[in-house]
Amino acid sequence: MSISPERLGRFARHIVLPEVGGVGQVALSDAHVVLVGCGGIGSPSLQYLAAAGIGRLTLIDDDVIDISNLQRQTIYTPSDVGRPKAETAAEWVRRFDLGLKVDVVATRLGDGNAGDVLSGADLVLDGCDNFATRLAVSDTCVKLGVPLTTAAIGRFQGQVANFAGHLPGQPCYRCFVGDAFDAVDCDTCAADGVLGAMVGMVGTFAAMHAMRVLLAGHATLGEPQFGTLHLIDGLAPSIRALRIAKDPACKGCAFLPVTGEA
Ligand SMILES: [Zn+2]
Repeated sequence: MSISPERLGRFARHIVLPEVGGVGQVALSDAHVVLVGCGGIGSPSLQYLAAAGIGRLTLIDDDVIDISNLQRQTIYTPSDVGRPKAETAAEWVRRFDLGLKVDVVATRLGDGNAGDVLSGADLVLDGCDNFATRLAVSDTCVKLGVPLTTAAIGRFQGQVANFAGHLPGQPCYRCFVGDAFDAVDCDTCAADGVLGAMVGMVGTFAAMHAMRVLLAGHATLGEPQFGTLHLIDGLAPSIRALRIAKDPACKGCAFLPVTGEA
């Protein structure tokens, strides 16, 4: 694929970067990213993924917009309150760039439907609000061989990591959190609070992390850093990186047949 002359100007500031370049921009244009959750993490992520010219976005969310979301989910407006998040987010993308393809999935992902929905993705970015979905998404990504960018937030703390549990020696998200959370809903924002600007910071960090994966092999933005967790402390502020070990007994990634791909 190539980029049409009328779109070259739109991405000129990317193309001039040696770390992205024309080849990298074409790779972004060819990419299909599935976004799980169009809330605090998802809404800033999708703004920068769309702005980066990601060719196809699938937006997943089964929730509707609440007035309390507007403090941090800045793609939504008061007139959107009560409307479905995924469809409203898709309308934002269509207004922003008619050249992007956008699909809507207005259901919650679980073990029963994740395989169908995530199949064919080049990358999944998970910013959803519960562990059960996160673990189902992670296990499915490993099975399908799709890299996963995962991002989470609470109060002033954020976590972002890329995982490729399908590759030999690489941990998956389940290696990180274990099995205890399979059925736990962890949406603690309502009780604990979260600073709006923090979700913007973590969501855009996640979008850039996703771009590292999509550009690997096409441009030199940086290593995907699979299996490294970035802990973002908004109060200090600081970012620390921790290496996640592969769990040799992980039920998500440990018993896969080795494909030999690296
Ligand atoms: Zn694992």
